[in-house]
Amino acid sequence: MDFLLTGNSFGLESQRLCQRLSIQIEWGIQDGGNNSGSGTPSSGRGSTFSFVPNPPGAPNGRGSPLGYIITATLTLEGRISSDAAAVVQDDLDELRQEYIDMGKQSRPGRSSFSASGGTANFSWSELNGGFTDGNPHPPWGMVTQTLIDKLEATRTNYNRGGIRLSSGYRCPHGNRIVGGKPESHHIYGRAADMFSASYTWTEDEFNRLKAAADLTNPLESFFWNTYDDHHYHAAW
Ligand SMILES: [Zn+2]
Repeated sequence: MDFLLTGNSFGLESQRLCQRLSIQIEWGIQDGGNNSGSGTPSSGRGSTFSFVPNPPGAPNGRGSPLGYIITATLTLEGRISSDAAAVVQDDLDELRQEYIDMGKQSRPGRSSFSASGGTANFSWSELNGGFTDGNPHPPWGMVTQTLIDKLEATRTNYNRGGIRLSSGYRCPHGNRIVGGKPESHHIYGRAADMFSASYTWTEDEFNRLKAAADLTNPLESFFWNTYDDHHYHAAW
């Protein structure tokens, strides 16, 4: 199911009634329990019915999936027949909803995300959330092929063993919790925070790694004193 606040609506259809009866169906939408709003419109009549989810704003993130209860009622010669179904965002749409709720400039589609990946030198869990708070949506994450390729190229240029990632992909909500900039490249799978995995992390070692990354034309390449913990941040 592709189920987001903006630009998506549900089309509902009754399948077991003849046309003459089905045009008399009364549809209703109710909040499924997570403060999801009641849909626009929240009721209607006919053989089919569509609504757009209209939850209240959640600029700091929502923490739960949108969900609705849909009822269909048919009154026939005084007898009322009714049925109800619940729809709830799946884990990936709940993650994608954060881009809308938190007003991000880009709203990635489902195909931008993956539940597995990584390379011999950078595991999926490090690229995608093997760190505190940045992405509490495992296994889902967004990691661009460019990020993977450039990290591998940086590792080759660096030529001093492994690179440990302390942050890769972050969901918008997780990015806010760890203090990232609102449009951080981390929320689009283009950034990584790095340390040496093999050598003591000194300013000289930082500058060796930065020089290696700078050979790959990064969009961002920060400095020893940019962050208190002295991680090296780059984005491609
Ligand atoms: Zn970073």
